[in-house]
Amino acid sequence: MLYSLFSIYNFKLNYPANWKVKLNENASLLSGNVVFFDPDGKESIYITWNELKKAKEKYTSAKEHAQASLSKMVNEKINYRKIKVIEQKTMQVNLHEAYLNHIELSTLKFGLIPLFPKTIMHSLISIFIHCEKSQRFFVIIGDSHPNDAEDLKEKLQQALKSFNCHFSLME
Ligand SMILES: [Zn+2]
Repeated sequence: MLYSLFSIYNFKLNYPANWKVKLNENASLLSGNVVFFDPDGKESIYITWNELKKAKEKYTSAKEHAQASLSKMVNEKINYRKIKVIEQKTMQVNLHEAYLNHIELSTLKFGLIPLFPKTIMHSLISIFIHCEKSQRFFVIIGDSHPNDAEDLKEKLQQALKSFNCHFSLME
């Protein structure tokens, strides 16, 4: 697969070259989000970043941050149903100790007739990164149907391998 380089506000990563990219219009150095998605809308990778101090007010580590975020989803049962934890692990991303949650869940989507909601299955792989060097935290989320999870994993791995959250262009 051919990859392209995405870089903005001193972070960068590789994403599949045939995917689309949508940057949040209020994005800045300290906060924002960007989503990469395939043309069929089957797979997407979402990245959000914000000031590290905001995360540090509540969590001592990326792991704690990841676990709290999962508990929050479990408690929001109205929006997310049948959450199944597939994998949780510590990993290295760009020399930071990061934490990964892989879960499966279903969401309800109402169509034209709101009485008959449609259940949509998702596989969500979230990686939480606390970067002291740039004083930001990043959450990278891969979203697909569970059937497409293996395909997405490959792209997510490439994104993580190439991810750099604290390079600088200072002269
Ligand atoms: Zn970093």
